Order: sequence, then structure tokens, then C-alpha cells
Amino acid sequence: MNEAAKYQTTDTLDRSIRDLRVSVTDRCNFRCIYCMPREIFGTGYKFVPRNDLLKLEEIARITRLFAGHGVRKVRITGGEPMIRRNLERLIEMLRDIDGVTDISMTTNASMLTLKRAQSLRAAGLNRINISLDAIDEQTFQRINDVDFPVAKVLEGIDNAHAAGFDTMKVNAVIRRGYNEHSILPLAQHFYGTGIVLRFIEFMDVGTTNKWNLEEVISAAELVEIIDKEMPIESLQPNYSGEVAKRWRYSDGGGEVGFITSVTQSFCGDCSRARLSAVGKVYTCLFAATGQDLRGMLRAGASDEELSRLIGRIWSQREDRYSELRGQIPVTTETPPRVEMSHIGG
Ligand code: SAM
Ligand code: SF4
Ligand code: SF4
Repeated sequence: MNEAAKYQTTDTLDRSIRDLRVSVTDRCNFRCIYCMPREIFGTGYKFVPRNDLLKLEEIARITRLFAGHGVRKVRITGGEPMIRRNLERLIEMLRDIDGVTDISMTTNASMLTLKRAQSLRAAGLNRINISLDAIDEQTFQRINDVDFPVAKVLEGIDNAHAAGFDTMKVNAVIRRGYNEHSILPLAQHFYGTGIVLRFIEFMDVGTTNKWNLEEVISAAELVEIIDKEMPIESLQPNYSGEVAKRWRYSDGGGEVGFITSVTQSFCGDCSRARLSAVGKVYTCLFAATGQDLRGMLRAGASDEELSRLIGRIWSQREDRYSELRGQIPVTTETPPRVEMSHIGG
């Protein structure tokens, strides 16, 4: 059935639904200190049992129904998505969905061998974003907290490039007191490579990373630090709703981006829905609860019934957390927010 643009679903703030982020697992081989801190996600932490994870066919079916409401881009994430078995099979299924024009993946690149990069490409993956928060061994290992060597991530980037992923982005979360000394070395490393480095402001996602505003290095500060040593100038966005602010090196060394989730919100045109590994739909990165699709799906609901629920979830959406950040008092009654490793950023 052709699901492409069957409905033009918009939310209460007239925002369409264009992007679906699909978390394929809540597990990860890293314990990044700002995402899955070891003291919480270490021994004894209960990850989702395998049977509770959406099956690949279930993910594809839900994605197809989302495409019917306007989704065009799908991003595969996690946890670490490359841990999930038969990921290539999922990508093949997603590629065949009418209306889906772009499939990307965010990964820590620790498992990105040349063979895997090639098979992901052959399956239909269009783009890869790689997370790398430091270029020096000591800082990187302090952040990933599993002694994972930086050279292996750089090898993963090379492998992706060799497999034909030629428009790669590298994302770096900068947290004051941990890796601000990595800003310039990262910029220097990716300067002139064609890879777009994007700095992400440390966000108050979830409840386990002990976020506080003092640890956020604003994009304005990041721009200043880079501009002083490597002059940059701002660029127009590629399209409306683009999350990263685009800049380029004035001498032609390429582009660099800044994701200003904390200091300049971009809720106004946020077109992203998130599907967790257990089949819950979240309409905001900072949501406390998601709406369960898996229960209904496994109880035998028809496509029409599921699609109606998706339409209802989106049309009732009123999220704009980043715009309101600071105005919402946090109290003991405030429900805990979903963790990043469940919905994948
Ligand atoms: N494991 C994969 C990876 O690291 O690329 C995919 C999932 S990870 C949750 C997705 C992205 O979220 C990563 O780029 C990570 O750096 C980012 N992230 C996680 N916690 C964050 C936080 N508190 N603030 C900003 N970005 C965060
Ligand atoms: Fe794993 Fe990605 Fe979270 Fe790091 S940021 S712990 S690699 S899910
Ligand atoms: Fe979208 Fe929520 Fe982020 Fe605003 S805070 S941009 S609504 S995910």
C-alpha cells in the first residue's frame, strides 16, 4: 500500500511530522558519562529483555504507518544501534517504504568495520553520523568509560568513507570541566577533510547525568573559541527546521556546525518523533512518558487502528520544552524524563 503522504498530520502548533528516530536497542558497549553513567548503568542495571524489543518487522510496520502521516527521514539510533542483530535487514525493509527518502544512523563507530560499513551501504543506509567527543586518548577514554581507543573510532570513520559514505558528520558533546580542551583539537582534526564536525551543547536529557547549567558551553562560546584560532563565518540553513547552525572556515577549510539545544531552542519547527526500542512513541526528547504502540500491535490491531493512534498522538502534541526551559519549576512531583539511551537523541 502506498503510505506516502496519506494524511497531512500536524500538531497543536501546526508542526508536521517529518522525522522519525528509531531506537533499536537500549544497550550500549560504552558508558559515556553524560549518557549512561556507570554508577547507574553498571552491574545490576536491568536492560530491556529481548522479547520486549520491537521486532524488525514491527519497526518497519510502524515506520510505514508514520510515513503515512508525513515522515520522510528515518534515523536509526539507540543505545548503540550496531549492537542490534540483522540491522541491515531492517534498513532494507525501511528502504522499501513509500515516502521514506532518507535513512541515516547515529553510532559510536566502535563496530564500524569496513565489511559492516559496506553491508550497511548496500542495504540502503544513506548517511552515518558518528559521535566523538575528544581526539586525545585520555579524554576520550574518560568519557566513554570503557577504555575504548580513539584510533578505533577514527578507523570506523575511514571505513565508512571507504564504503562510500561521503557526507559524514561527527558530533561532539562538550561539557565544561570534562572536554572543553578538546574543542580546538577536534576542529583541527576534521578541518579540510570534508567531514562536518558539529558541537552539541550538553543537554538536560534524562535524570542520571547530573546535568547543570554551569556545565553547558554555549554555542556562542564555542564559536568564539574556534573563531579566535580558525576564523569562521555563518551560513544560511540548508532547509527549514535544520537543527545545526551552519558555519564555515573563512579560508575554505569546510563546514562546522553547532547544535544549540539549550541556548537557542528550535522547537518552533521541530518535526521529530521518537520510537523507543520497546515501541513507545515520544513526541519530545524531554518527555516523561511515551505512548505505547507495541501492546496494541501485538494484540492484533489493524494498520488503520494503529495509524489512527499515531495521528492522534501527533495531533495532540504541544511539546516545546526547550522554549520553556527554566520556566518550568522542577519539583519532587516532576516525573522523571526518559533517558537518552532509550530514545537516542
Ligand atoms: N550510541 C550512539 C552514539 O553515541 O552515537 C547513538 C545513541 S546516542 C544516545 C545519540 C547522541 O546523543 C550521541 O551523539 C550522544 O553524544 C548524544 N547525547 C547523549 N546524551 C547527551 C546529552 N546529555 N547532551 C547532549 N547530547 C547527548
Ligand atoms: Fe552509548 Fe551513545 Fe550513550 Fe555513549 S552516547 S553511552 S555511545 S548510547
Ligand atoms: Fe523538539 Fe522537544 Fe527538542 Fe523542542 S525540546 S526541539 S519540541 S524535541
